[in-house]
Amino acid sequence: MNDFNDKIASLMPGTICVLGVPLDKNSSFRRGPALAPMRIMEQFHSDSTNLCAENGIDVGAAKGWCELGNMAFPEEGGESFAAIEQTVAKLLGKGCRVITLGGDHSITYPIVRAHAKFHDKLDVLHFDAHPDLYDELEGNRYSHATPFARIMEEGAVNRLVQVGIRTMTPHLRDQAAKFGVEVMEMKDWHWETKIDLESDIYLTLDLDCLDPAFAPGVSHHEPGGLTTRELLHIIHGIRGRIVGADIVELNPDRDWMGMTAMVAAKLTKEILAKMLHAR
Ligand code: MN
Ligand code: MN
Repeated sequence: MNDFNDKIASLMPGTICVLGVPLDKNSSFRRGPALAPMRIMEQFHSDSTNLCAENGIDVGAAKGWCELGNMAFPEEGGESFAAIEQTVAKLLGKGCRVITLGGDHSITYPIVRAHAKFHDKLDVLHFDAHPDLYDELEGNRYSHATPFARIMEEGAVNRLVQVGIRTMTPHLRDQAAKFGVEVMEMKDWHWETKIDLESDIYLTLDLDCLDPAFAPGVSHHEPGGLTTRELLHIIHGIRGRIVGADIVELNPDRDWMGMTAMVAAKLTKEILAKMLHAR
């Protein structure tokens, strides 16, 4: 922990930090994502590929970013959300930007809370099979199925745009209408679809936005999703400034030969390169 704090203390303003948040206690169906940050960074550094991103930036040689390793949490319970929010706020307070590797999607609530304090007009671009707008799930208001209900209740963000959605229920449609969420359902998506976000953008990426054919290592297989190339096309097309990002819901227990971890590593590299490009 001291090592972690020392690293944070020595950060230069403007640094983009890759932070592991190995928390999966708010998963509803299966645990597993706590192991994800480690698996993603293993693939990120795998000799099977290189660190050159599609925008031409060699992330391996680029300055201006660092790996912070994983946050430490007590075994169960405790004030995990407060710890996440404080850690991210500390990094933002130093003028850094953060890419968080989850963990399940519940962690996005404290992360977005921290970002909202630093950005007056924060738009959230959310990739997912699920809108994660339940009021509660199995009695848990802080489940991985509820973070965007909590975020929207607090009025912390300007716009929430969701892409890849294909599991709407009547309750979720009501919630989306109540909070003014802009849901772009998967059935309506096509290559020319424009995402008109231009202000400060927080990008949150649940890997189950992808079709399980491309990303089998997730807890909830939801067929009919994005291809990896379609997702990259949307990310590369973002015109606004990405002020923070997370990649969540990799479940290594469900993965096959590290394939989904490699997809997550590729997305980490491409998002990092895009953020480095627009400093
Ligand atoms: Mn999901
Ligand atoms: Mn999700």
